[in-house]
Formats: sequence, C-alpha cells, structure tokens
Amino acid sequence: MRIWASIESIRRGIVYTSPPKCFRCGDCCLRIPVELTKEEIERIAKHLSPKERKIFYQNLTKNPLEANPIDGHLMPTLTKEAWLKAPCMFLTWTKDGKAKCKIYPIRPHMCRIFYCGRKSPDEPLNARKYIYEIEINPKKLKNFTLRDKK
Ligand code: SF4
Ligand code: SF4
Repeated sequence: MRIWASIESIRRGIVYTSPPKCFRCGDCCLRIPVELTKEEIERIAKHLSPKERKIFYQNLTKNPLEANPIDGHLMPTLTKEAWLKAPCMFLTWTKDGKAKCKIYPIRPHMCRIFYCGRKSPDEPLNARKYIYEIEINPKKLKNFTLRDKK
C-alpha cells in the first residue's frame, strides 16, 4: 500500500492516502540538495552530453556543508553516495512559470517521493512538514489514522 507521511503527521499518528498538492513553484529544486545513490549518479551521467556530465560531476558533493542544505534537511544514509547541490542544475521553467525537471523520466528517487507539504508556496519550507511517499504493508498502519490529503 502507498501512503504519504511527514515527521509531524507520524508524531500525530496520521498518514495520508493521497499525495499532497504540488504547485510546481520549484522551491524544493532551488533550495534542497538531492541525495543520490551510486546507481542514480551513473544513470543520470549516461543520459547527459559530455559538457553537461562535467557540470553534473562538479555539482556533486560528499560534504553536506557544501550542498546548501536548508532547515537541516540532510539525512545521510548508507546507500547514498553524494548530494547534488542546490539549486539543482536540472531545473528549468515552462513559459507560464512552472518548474520543469530537465531529467524528469530519470530523476532521482528522492525527487519522486518528496513533497514540501505546504498549503501555499508563500509558506516557508519546513523540514518537519516535508511529506514522503512510502510503500508499506497495511498491517503496519493499525495504530495510525488514515486521511485523504486532498
Ligand atoms: S513540492 Fe513544494 S516546493 Fe516543490 S515544487 Fe511542489 S509546491 Fe514547490
Ligand atoms: S532532478 Fe529534477 S526534480 Fe530533482 S531537484 Fe533537480 S530539477 Fe528538481
């Protein structure tokens, strides 16, 4: 079963059964470094031109302090190889000002599961409200209240 939850919602015993709204404002891509596995780095690098690949490698760091983290949003895990520095080099914009990912079909896992959890793009980003999409056995949710996020 797929659920969406933040640190705050879990503390309150709540998980969501639908994804939160995304305004495509691009704030996450502009301000939050992306954690990448070795496989993701290789997959993205393969997809790029030699010039883009060089810039991509220059934008990777193993030093969290260089990654431009905000709100303490850095969760080093054993599977992660590096951070892609913020602002993300793959962020572009549509003519009507919506954020667009240049590598959308092959974007990293973290970009696929992340939502800022804000009710409007005017609210400041807050790591405690970040919502993640999680695949979970429904049996593990017996102590949680399930809510529709929409
Ligand atoms: S997840 Fe949030 S910060 Fe990222 S584009 Fe959507 S609304 Fe903007
Ligand atoms: S890879 Fe795409 S979705 Fe992920 S931060 Fe960069 S622009 Fe945003």
